[in-house]
Amino acid sequence: MYKLICGANPVHLGIATPAGDWDLDALRDHSETCTSCRGLLRAAAHLAEYLTASQAAEEKGVSARTIQSACESGALPHMRPGREILIDRRDLQEWRPRPVGWQKGRKRK
Ligand SMILES: [Zn+2]
Repeated sequence: MYKLICGANPVHLGIATPAGDWDLDALRDHSETCTSCRGLLRAAAHLAEYLTASQAAEEKGVSARTIQSACESGALPHMRPGREILIDRRDLQEWRPRPVGWQKGRKRK
């Protein structure tokens, strides 16, 4: 579970569900009232454009782990506020999941 910059509990604020998804409306509300979080949540203006790893996985029909390793390998651009991964929807659309077992260092692009 990620933490807000101000240290508030995102679950308590209704921003994060126990499953780890984000309620973007609640996040926006918080960013409007919390000066500590405003910096991070400047991105919230565009946050509807961002997907968590599990949302991205669902959208692409792959596992969240595939999304995470694509982020870690640099194949998929992402942001990391706290421990959460956020992926720009446009980057996700351009990203093509590689077949299982593709080897690092053999990118073709
Ligand atoms: Zn805050």
